[in-house]
Amino acid sequence: MWRASIFTLFPEMFPGPLGLSLAGDALKRNVWRLEAIDIRAHGLGRHRSVDDTPAGGGAGMVMRADVLAASLDAALEPDDPRPRLLMSPRGKPLTQARAREFAEAPGVAIVCGRFEGVDERVIAARRLEEVSIGDYVLSGGELAALVLLDAAVRLLPGVMGKEESGAEESFENGLLEYPHYTKPRVFEGHQIPDVLLSGDHAKIAAWREAEARALTAARRPDLLKPKARKS
Ligand code: SAH
Repeated sequence: MWRASIFTLFPEMFPGPLGLSLAGDALKRNVWRLEAIDIRAHGLGRHRSVDDTPAGGGAGMVMRADVLAASLDAALEPDDPRPRLLMSPRGKPLTQARAREFAEAPGVAIVCGRFEGVDERVIAARRLEEVSIGDYVLSGGELAALVLLDAAVRLLPGVMGKEESGAEESFENGLLEYPHYTKPRVFEGHQIPDVLLSGDHAKIAAWREAEARALTAARRPDLLKPKARKS
């Protein structure tokens, strides 16, 4: 079973929206498992403190390396094969290809940051891979972790129906998806494009491909550029 272990100061945030719909049904059917681990259980002193002021001064608080390491070490076997991730705006941006890799792994372990972030030493010592969900700053890693989990879980075998296998979706072939239409046939005077009602599958496929290309060129020309080689 695909297993997600989430290290957080707010375990109540999980499964949250992933308890509903596709992911929630799959959770109930044991296609995947979610374990939210309260970092504060390893907090220090009477107040179970998990953070402290930044070395060198400055605003905000930083999550302590020792507390987070203790939480990780208590919950993860040393030979746990799952990627160990830290949600972070400094990380490599999450992509559909990466989501697919996570879905193909045995699961994921995810640390959710809070405050200004986590002490750099625990990132290195526990070899956490930083993953970002976009160039903006959230107040904590929990929503970012939910985004990553949603993107991965829907790709697990048996979560989406065969018909929605995801193979044609945005990004899967380097393009944004073509436009969709359904009933009614006329909406506020606007018709469904004729070709989609023609029953000619080859013509429909060609139309969709052309639409996807045009849409991608207009909105995300960066996706059409040849990718820089991975080092
Ligand atoms: N001071 C940090 C931001 C801290 S935001 C900086 O400037 O880089 C607090 C936490 O929210 C982070 O530790 C991280 O876990 C999470 N977070 C914020 N933005 C994120 C993003 N774009 N992607 C993933 N996680 C994010």
